[in-house]
Amino acid sequence: PSPLPTLIRKKRDGERLEDAEIRSFVRGVTEGTAQQGQIGAMLMAVRLRGMDAAETLALTRAMATSGRTLAWPPAWHGQLVDKHSTGGVGDKVSLALAPALAACGCKVPMISGRGLGHTGGTLDKLEAIPGFRVSQSPEEMQHTLARVGCCIVGQSAELVPADRVLYGLRDVTATVDSLPLITASILSKKAAERLSALVLDVKFGEAALYPTQESARELARSLVEVGAHLGIRTAALLTRMEQPLGRAVGNALEVLEALECLQGGGPADLRHLVTALG
Ligand code: URA
Repeated sequence: PSPLPTLIRKKRDGERLEDAEIRSFVRGVTEGTAQQGQIGAMLMAVRLRGMDAAETLALTRAMATSGRTLAWPPAWHGQLVDKHSTGGVGDKVSLALAPALAACGCKVPMISGRGLGHTGGTLDKLEAIPGFRVSQSPEEMQHTLARVGCCIVGQSAELVPADRVLYGLRDVTATVDSLPLITASILSKKAAERLSALVLDVKFGEAALYPTQESARELARSLVEVGAHLGIRTAALLTRMEQPLGRAVGNALEVLEALECLQGGGPADLRHLVTALG
């Protein structure tokens, strides 16, 4: 493939990138040979020019295989499920839903993210628990899944490292709200998990990444379509994000509210959403 400036120029001028060119960009991101400025420029070119479905799939695949992909005992086949949200304010659903699904006999190997734009991150919330370590090896994840049925970890040098880099740079380059970048970010983590089924919470409204229901529906379609190409049974719910979910906003407070929800209490909107997605 051509050197990175040529690929950036191609996307800047509205051309589509070939699979091999997308893989070459992601390799540069993962191996650290791409400069931060080059990555930022490519992210902005994608944000402004978009990507078609085939490019988005190629980006997702390249990111998913930028690190190790997980492998599970055959006995877990069909039980491996996960949920991901496009992000909101007060959205602590994953903290309650992962253990609730585990209690129903599922295995939930969740790879989450940190705060993105104004939306809160599941990893930041968990780190409000003293001593909580979000960086876990695939072996540690399997051990935890065998013991308690779910785990929530972060991208790392081993797990979807390309998303770790791109996620951080999107946050500081005004390139968060890009349909192909959100799709690839979410689904690369889920593809690396080798799931059977996935449910997505695609939010719309003032406090979501996408303000209107139509734009969120377009994102949901992209997520479901690429998910299907990856061999994951994928469903999406469109949910409102015009006000914080539940009553608590702030990492430690949100952990407490998620615990209340697991005990059958907590605010009704949170309980309702956890049950609907479950
Ligand atoms: N969650 C992610 O993991 N990535 C995004 O781009 C948005 C929400």
